[in-house]
Amino acid sequence: MKASALVKLRGVTQSYQIGRKVFVAVDGVNMTVNEGEFVALLGPSGCGKSTLLRIITGLQKPSQGTVLYRGEPVTGVNPRATIVFQTFALFPWLTVQQNVEIALKARGVAPEERKTRALELLDRVGLDGFETAFPRELSGGMRQKVGFARAMAVNPELLCLDEPFSALDVLSAESLRGELLELWLGGGIPTRAILMVTHNIEEAVFMADRVIVMDKDPGRVVADVNVVLPHPRQHKSPEFAAIVDQVYATLAGQTQPEHLEVGTAPGEPGRTRALPDIAIDDLTGVLERLTEEPGRTADIFRLSSELQVDSDYLLRLTEAAELLGFATLAQGDISLTPLGETFAEASILARKEIFATRIRRLPLFSWLLKMLSAAEKPQLERSVIHAALELEFPPEEARRQLDLIIQWGRYAELFEYDDGSEILSREPGVPAGTSV
Ligand code: ADP
Ligand code: MG
Repeated sequence: MKASALVKLRGVTQSYQIGRKVFVAVDGVNMTVNEGEFVALLGPSGCGKSTLLRIITGLQKPSQGTVLYRGEPVTGVNPRATIVFQTFALFPWLTVQQNVEIALKARGVAPEERKTRALELLDRVGLDGFETAFPRELSGGMRQKVGFARAMAVNPELLCLDEPFSALDVLSAESLRGELLELWLGGGIPTRAILMVTHNIEEAVFMADRVIVMDKDPGRVVADVNVVLPHPRQHKSPEFAAIVDQVYATLAGQTQPEHLEVGTAPGEPGRTRALPDIAIDDLTGVLERLTEEPGRTADIFRLSSELQVDSDYLLRLTEAAELLGFATLAQGDISLTPLGETFAEASILARKEIFATRIRRLPLFSWLLKMLSAAEKPQLERSVIHAALELEFPPEEARRQLDLIIQWGRYAELFEYDDGSEILSREPGVPAGTSV
């Protein structure tokens, strides 16, 4: 029997105007979610996962391309789909039960029936006994369950989940994953398909029938991996690890050619490459660890479980290592370069020097150093730099990039930053910006 498509995207592109530039957030995405499927949409932050969910549920119209729901073009908000967000917005002044009923009230369900259905759903998600509690009395995991109950109250055909477990502590996330799977697999909910956004590879492989892998710059689909493993899945089984590895390899492999492109400086034509959001201590930690590995090479999935870091974060760390020329990535393995090895084995001071030389090559830093030397005093106000960055990045990202620039530049002792006056100044003795 041929699976029938619930959602079909064809050539979906979403671009945004930022400053004077057009930024392509999602580029030519084709994908299908079939009836009966649990699909995970996986990719690093910023690759356009939330954007796609908004487009699929009709909350947003794409710049280009078509969205079909049961073969019909989606023109407005799709009443047969709902989204559960990372932190579900519950009304603090309503009880748990009222928070669920409100979704039914919005659909014109009569009071008696609202009550019956709300109670039944709360029971099903395991919140029996908490009907009259207020959100503030609940743990994060329980609040998210109210969110699930509210989403399911309207009997959606398509349940979209946007990183539903990422705001929860490890244990609550684990149990809630199990409970959602039980509801889904046991047919306890009328939902015909689930589309779950995540940046956690293990979570995707644990839950989904299929993992659609995305990458960023621009956001696009790079792989579609079937997970043919029976439930309940065992994290520690070799079959599970093999699929996680396969997904890892597609993600890490993708980052190859573009990785080495450093992009352009703010204000110049072309796209400014964002710095990966990492802490330098973690980067040095990973590099040090690699010096202990045979051949200075490690499988990144193994490394992420041994170092107990989130896979998304480890990918950002490897991205930073590659950008700085400290490591290379191929087929899911990360290898130290001779420079990376030198860096990892150097003294603190020598590390700073190597780091400084490397980041001076990046357009963001050479641009900033040039601006500093062009200024009358070698000083710049935070707001000035921020304004320039806002021409390249959305506001939140611009702020993050500025914080990263400050962190990296301070570590490299290229410049100083005063948190009080919010002024960035060149370290005495640092020569004017010379770009390579
Ligand atoms: P993800 O959910 O995968 O983290 P998003 O879909 O939230 O990614 O965002 C994809 C990209 O589009 C990001 O670079 C984000 O900053 C950008 N973006 C999202 N919404 C807007 C918007 N309204 N205006 C400008 N840029 C946006
Ligand atoms: Mg998102």
